[in-house]
Amino acid sequence: MSDSPTGMHALTPQTRATVDGVIDYARKRVIYEDVPLDLPQTMIELAETASGSISAEGMGSDRAIALFEDVLAPTCLSTDHPGYLSFIPSAPTKAASAFDLVVSASSIYGGSWLEGAGAVFAENEVLHWLAGEFGLPAGSGGVFVQGGTIGNLSALVTARDVARRRRRAEGLPDPRRWIVVCSAEAHSSIASAAEIMDVDVAPATPGEDGRLHGDAVARALDEHGDAVFAVVATGGTTNFGIVDDIASIADAATARGVWLHIDGAYGLAAMLVESMRPAFAGVERADSVIVDPHKWLFAPFDACALIYRDPDAARLAHTQKAEYLDTLTDSPDWNPSDLAVQLTRRARGLPLWFSLAAHGTDQYRAAIAHGIDLARRIADEIEARDGLSLVRQPQLSVVVFRREGWTMADYQAWSDRLLREQLAFVVPSSHAGEPVLRFAIISPLTSYELLVEVLDTLG
Ligand SMILES: *Cc1c(COP(=O)(O)O)cnc(C)c1O
Repeated sequence: MSDSPTGMHALTPQTRATVDGVIDYARKRVIYEDVPLDLPQTMIELAETASGSISAEGMGSDRAIALFEDVLAPTCLSTDHPGYLSFIPSAPTKAASAFDLVVSASSIYGGSWLEGAGAVFAENEVLHWLAGEFGLPAGSGGVFVQGGTIGNLSALVTARDVARRRRRAEGLPDPRRWIVVCSAEAHSSIASAAEIMDVDVAPATPGEDGRLHGDAVARALDEHGDAVFAVVATGGTTNFGIVDDIASIADAATARGVWLHIDGAYGLAAMLVESMRPAFAGVERADSVIVDPHKWLFAPFDACALIYRDPDAARLAHTQKAEYLDTLTDSPDWNPSDLAVQLTRRARGLPLWFSLAAHGTDQYRAAIAHGIDLARRIADEIEARDGLSLVRQPQLSVVVFRREGWTMADYQAWSDRLLREQLAFVVPSSHAGEPVLRFAIISPLTSYELLVEVLDTLG
């Protein structure tokens, strides 16, 4: 290896070969037909086969690629495998995955207009399209952040800032503790955001149908008064895919002048399907919404679209100020970094932009509808089988069911076997203290036949 300081950066036969080797591997992976599901290994196992890769001289790119391809990658689950049905799977389009390489290759700084104008413009095209689909007004805007967790945190920080400024303007001090109201079923990232912000969560009890309704929110708001700075409604819970009764929650929040945030990280994509729109009525009244393209919008990790009705409010809350940033912050440009908890940012909305631009929105609607239809069909099949029963009817693309008579240990042993046999990745979950199974369907490559094959293994 050369020890010249430019050795890694200069264009030489070696650096060319390195680029070719990496891109060849990436091309192979992106267009892989039967992607293996793969299997994790323990730290001890990996220490035996993969340790010692970092040395003063380097191992050379061929060996490093081989180490990744042959040893490391096979221990990383392919979340885009059609049989990956746990948590929330990912299923990036070929176009989106491939374009992610372009984003990396282009060294684009996506935090400011000055540095990334065209990239930011293209990302905004996507955000404005999404805002329109969600019924938000022209003038809405936002930013792609790392994931729903950062999206929720950033939105709540903005909401508190708005509430705080309003109180200051009225000459009022902060409440003793700020409070965010959300469903007891809300995603764990809301509690995490509250922890970081040092605010309290007031859980509102969902109805019998699992959905949070406006009356419960109104009760919580009346109990906690003006200490509440935001209400969070969920547009598709992670566990069950339940969409809260957003319209009645919006009534309760707007009547009291409280910020309404919609956590649609997983489920809000379903609004792109015409027949599902009524289930999301009220989203158009939100002050902020999130949806994760790396979930049901077929983009690679990691991306969350965070959209505000009034981006200026976010700018007031989030813009970082420093002498070395004055050129940016003193300009009226659209700087994505000003809208969330971040400064340097990858233009992580570009893979979705490219795929949407190339394929058009109709194919996205069809691909999302596939998941909803498949969830309903397999739910019917589950209901029809002896020994299996649904925990509830699916609303989006999550199906939760039980195998009568099985303990958690039975479910776990079954789940381990399924993964060992590389058929599917279905981890047991639990609901109200009962162990259950859960299919989360995202990939259009997940077929009815595959799901039936999985059900057949339940004996
Ligand atoms: C996945 C999810 C989140 C968290 O998103 P990340 O991208 O994993 O940070 C938040 N809310 C809901 C409803 C989710 O499904």
